[in-house]
Amino acid sequence: MTGVTVVGGGLAGMTAAWHIRRLGIPVRLLDAAPQLGGMAGARMIDGRVEDHGVHIFPAWYRNTLRLVDELGILGNLRECHTFHQLLPGEFPAFRSAVTPVADRLLFYYGVIDLLAQRYDDRDQSLHDFLHSRWYLTEAAIADVEHLFVASSAAESHAVSAAGFRGSIAAFARHPGRVRMPKGDLEQWFIGPFRQRLEADGVEVRTGTELLAARVADGRLSTLTVRDGAAMTEQDVDGHVVLAVPHCGVARLGPDVTGALRPPHGVAELRSRPLGALHLYLRRRLPGLPDEHVRLVGSPHALTLVDVGQVWEGHRTSLLNCVVGRVALLAEVSESAAVEILVEELMSYLPTLTWEDIEHVCYQPHSTEPFFAPGPNSSRHRPVSSTDLPNLHLAGDYCAAPPGVAGMESAVRSGLTAADSVRRALRPEAPPVPVLRIGTVGPRAARGLRTALAPLAAAVKLLASRRP
Ligand SMILES: Cc1cc2nc3c(=O)[nH]c(=O)nc-3n(C[C@H](O)[C@H](O)[C@H](O)COP(=O)(O)OP(=O)(O)OC[C@H]3O[C@@H](n4cnc5c(N)ncnc54)[C@H](O)[C@@H]3O)c2cc1C
Repeated sequence: MTGVTVVGGGLAGMTAAWHIRRLGIPVRLLDAAPQLGGMAGARMIDGRVEDHGVHIFPAWYRNTLRLVDELGILGNLRECHTFHQLLPGEFPAFRSAVTPVADRLLFYYGVIDLLAQRYDDRDQSLHDFLHSRWYLTEAAIADVEHLFVASSAAESHAVSAAGFRGSIAAFARHPGRVRMPKGDLEQWFIGPFRQRLEADGVEVRTGTELLAARVADGRLSTLTVRDGAAMTEQDVDGHVVLAVPHCGVARLGPDVTGALRPPHGVAELRSRPLGALHLYLRRRLPGLPDEHVRLVGSPHALTLVDVGQVWEGHRTSLLNCVVGRVALLAEVSESAAVEILVEELMSYLPTLTWEDIEHVCYQPHSTEPFFAPGPNSSRHRPVSSTDLPNLHLAGDYCAAPPGVAGMESAVRSGLTAADSVRRALRPEAPPVPVLRIGTVGPRAARGLRTALAPLAAAVKLLASRRP
């Protein structure tokens, strides 16, 4: 096995494989699943192509959007204009904001306050930050907390405040419309990416699972791989990029995790499932926008997009929902979970009936959890280079600037892993470029926080006198 073997064909592994191949190095890309893309992809379920879940591409995803552009498929994404919010009993009236003006002003003051924090080598939970602010109202706190769990499956005590600060700063520094694919992730994103990899000479092997890895003489020496029914031990003559989730790396044992920088950090990282529920309706549900809708306060933190309105070939509604609190349903059967979730949707969308539903696809993703950086997790997130000279790491959980997670983190780690390989095998080649995500320095925010403090106090007083 010479050249480079990339194990894990999610976005991180695909990006690494492409950039390593561009250095003129032979690459083979292995994935246990029957298709590439991992969480950012789709799979065949009951004869239909089903996305792993709704994916949005904010304007600050600079490396992801550059990748999409280089693949020539930027036109496969459409721009979104608004994030609609729906409260129980208000359908079909959608709001752009949920809390009253006073709470919203205090929330914006909270954003300035968060940007004024210096989290260099300390961190706290988003919960602790929000609940220690004298000016924030219960309504403003509840709104932020619900928004977070709806998008990342993490309750606020499990969310890094430094990370939240980083993503707010990134939004501020790279304003612009959020984008979403014009159709399913396979056809509009991952499929074209795979075609490009193969056209460039990357050997793609799906259905091939890494079971174990052995270290000898300070190098990764052997991979045990299952390919269909066959199990083989392969000597590693070249380099390996491990691009499987952090729990998969941890399973390879202390010889591998001890070589990471920092050692054994992956064992400390936590991920949580973020579920998907896709409802194919027999008709177009009137009154729904064609963009993201958050069901405010929904017990399972549901958000949805009626992609049937915008994807080609659909004449009826197709509600692609993300289930933030899918873990609450772990103990019930899948059919009971679907019933609970559909009833919850109906309580917000009263025109939706069981007769409308032609087909349901429920993916709780309990074995493929989503990584959202927790408090102090940055000290455990490993870098791409390891102490084994022929082993490199990629994955959304790898070290990244605060706030960088999800697809941007996966793509970024693919680039840094490719650069780690370049340094080892093609040191004369120019570095693999990683685009910087802008941030906001705390000093500027501090001045604004001080200047606005009397106003915040006055608004808080007004809000507290509300009946
Ligand atoms: C419902 C949902 C919605 C999301 N929405 C967004 C969003 O809107 N925006 C955003 O930025 N991010 C979103 N994400 C997160 C995003 O999809 C991931 O952060 C990103 O795709 C992770 O890429 P990855 O390559 O690091 O890991 P993965 O996608 O997990 O890829 C790992 C790959 O490794 C393979 N593998 C695992 N073990 C082995 C093994 N032993 N041998 C061989 N192969 C193996 C897997 O099959 C998989 O293909 C969402 C996630 C979910 C679940």
